[in-house]
Amino acid sequence: MVPEVLKGFVLLALIFGPLEQLCGLRHQKLWRSGWATDTFYYFSGYFVGRLGAGLALWLAMHGVAWGIPPTWQSAIAAQPTGLQLIEAVVIADAGYYLAHRLLHTVPLLWRFHAIHHSVEQMDWLATVRVHPLDQIFTKLFQMVPLYALGFSAKTFVSYALFSAAIAFLIHSNLRLRFGPLRWLVATPEFHHWHHSYDPQIKNCNLAAQLPLIDWLFGSLHCPAKARPRTFGISDPVPEGYLGQFFYPLHKPDNINSLR
Ligand SMILES: [Zn+2]
Ligand SMILES: [Zn+2]
Repeated sequence: MVPEVLKGFVLLALIFGPLEQLCGLRHQKLWRSGWATDTFYYFSGYFVGRLGAGLALWLAMHGVAWGIPPTWQSAIAAQPTGLQLIEAVVIADAGYYLAHRLLHTVPLLWRFHAIHHSVEQMDWLATVRVHPLDQIFTKLFQMVPLYALGFSAKTFVSYALFSAAIAFLIHSNLRLRFGPLRWLVATPEFHHWHHSYDPQIKNCNLAAQLPLIDWLFGSLHCPAKARPRTFGISDPVPEGYLGQFFYPLHKPDNINSLR
């Protein structure tokens, strides 16, 4: 039997690989630099994500949920799945926004998040270059409130599919036009600005799914007639997985691109 994680990788590669070559926003090689490292992140991140979700569930059950009356939890779980999904996206993305803002503004946390921003070419595989502790940190902010509030199992499955699809889409090198929808749901254009190398553009577009959250907190940057040209950071992030894993633990003297 083919493991689920491998099936997902093949499916994503078959969808995004040809599309990025045919309708790419920028011309870039299929095997861009760092692809092997990022492929390793894909497979290891699958297990880190499960660990993060398990930890979030444990925290919700043993700490956070005590303050929420069980009648609220059953009322939330009794709503139609579509409505629960909308509520879950808003709550989880508000949590993600907060975590992401901390990752960009607290120097110790930035050392971990710098790994994600070390990608210099945006594509679907860039999504998964995330330090394991960064991945768990953001997962807790997203998932603990959802578990504590008692959303139904169906809602969790729908949310997991939706958030994974959006994450790969917003990193992908795809030329897509979303029209007015781009103010409602995150797009490649929205998230590529977040990865811009330009030091003038800092701490923008921190939400994962809802640009409205950035608009509310004054961090939205989506100019109509411009596109980011280069991506990455000036921090000396090494290229391989192990170098990146231990990078936050040495005290880098150069954290000048804290954004
Ligand atoms: Zn970031
Ligand atoms: Zn990103």
